[in-house]
Amino acid sequence: SHDRVINFGAGPSALPLPVLEQSQAGLVNFENTGIGIAEISHRSSEFTTFIAKVEVNIRSQLDVPPTHAILFTQGGGSAQFAAVVMNMLARYKLLHPEKGGAETVLDYVVTGSWSKKACEEARRLTVGGHAQVRVVVDTRQHSRDGQSFDNIPPHAAFAFSPDPALVYYCENETVDGVEFAHEPGSATAFPYGLLNPNGEAKLLPLVADYSSSFMCRRIPHLADHAVIYAGAQKNIGPAGVTVLIVRQDCLVDVDAAAQLGAIPVPTMLSWKTLSDSKSLYNTPSVLSVYVTGLVVERMREQGGLPYYEELNRKKALSVYATINEGQEKGVFRRKVKNGSESWMNVVFEVLGEGAEKRFLDGAKERGMTGLEGHRSVGGIRISLYNAITEEQAGKLVTYMREFIIEET
Ligand code: PMP
Repeated sequence: SHDRVINFGAGPSALPLPVLEQSQAGLVNFENTGIGIAEISHRSSEFTTFIAKVEVNIRSQLDVPPTHAILFTQGGGSAQFAAVVMNMLARYKLLHPEKGGAETVLDYVVTGSWSKKACEEARRLTVGGHAQVRVVVDTRQHSRDGQSFDNIPPHAAFAFSPDPALVYYCENETVDGVEFAHEPGSATAFPYGLLNPNGEAKLLPLVADYSSSFMCRRIPHLADHAVIYAGAQKNIGPAGVTVLIVRQDCLVDVDAAAQLGAIPVPTMLSWKTLSDSKSLYNTPSVLSVYVTGLVVERMREQGGLPYYEELNRKKALSVYATINEGQEKGVFRRKVKNGSESWMNVVFEVLGEGAEKRFLDGAKERGMTGLEGHRSVGGIRISLYNAITEEQAGKLVTYMREFIIEET
């Protein structure tokens, strides 16, 4: 393990070394069963007990109320791009059987490339007229160059529909490094107030992609969400498991809805199927659930979300402060507007001929990798997920300071 590098990759990404070592042992012999975790039946009492504990662990750390189920599935965030449309349209059809396709509206908040992709999937699935997809805001219209996802605009820019079947947003845009502000009252926090103006106890059809910010801190207004989903492979585990937090009224009979004219839903994408079977309708990704369980248990032992929130705040603040120093010296350039920057994925440019390569090469020589920006946008991206320690972030900051001096 001494030859491991510091992996700042955006996902799959670093996992805590003690968890990897525990997993090694579990791969050979899971909890003294004499059977490895990749070999044991998902119906065994040992595994069903284990997965139930993972749920409890997530529930208690995120403070998920009994109004919401926690489910595990596969297919990543990408499968949920479709599942959210299908399940929420089924729900809406059961509530409003009289409404036709054009009267059924799906509201999308487009703040980056992942919410854009989710919106495109909604268009694909409703192309026959099952619903109308509306873009509530496309933040490129508010960007400095008119074409980049570099900001969260103030609330006045959001134009929600009166009674949508869903309101979709992506809390943290992994590629663009844009995130809603952390302070609920801020002008660039998610505008719940516009959705629920009188704060009345209305069931909002709010859908959130938390793939790259899940369990890095508490989730504001969690109980107001219809569904929150996240692939595990950034903060809490390996790829192969997707966590869903679904409000009970969204666990609907999709077949009954299809009888009324809603889109038929594949069994594997129906949230109710998952819930009725306690996430064991078919064979889950047993190994991924196991490693995820070890990660969330370690998180609990370390103090849970208050601990991680503070840790992640400190890491992000020190990295952004260093980028600002570099920007003053003309070495770095920030890509995201003030107040919209992500704690998890920090994006910037290294200015000057060949400078980006020099930056990456120097990092590599010092044992730090995964710093290339997403292929669609280029530049540098530093992912600071939960498993990155303060010491590791500090090592990168030290290197960035050296680099600024060398380049000036
Ligand atoms: N949403 C976000 C915010 C993501 O970062 C990703 C993956 N990077 C996805 C969705 C797609 O997830 P998956 O690869 O698990 O399908």
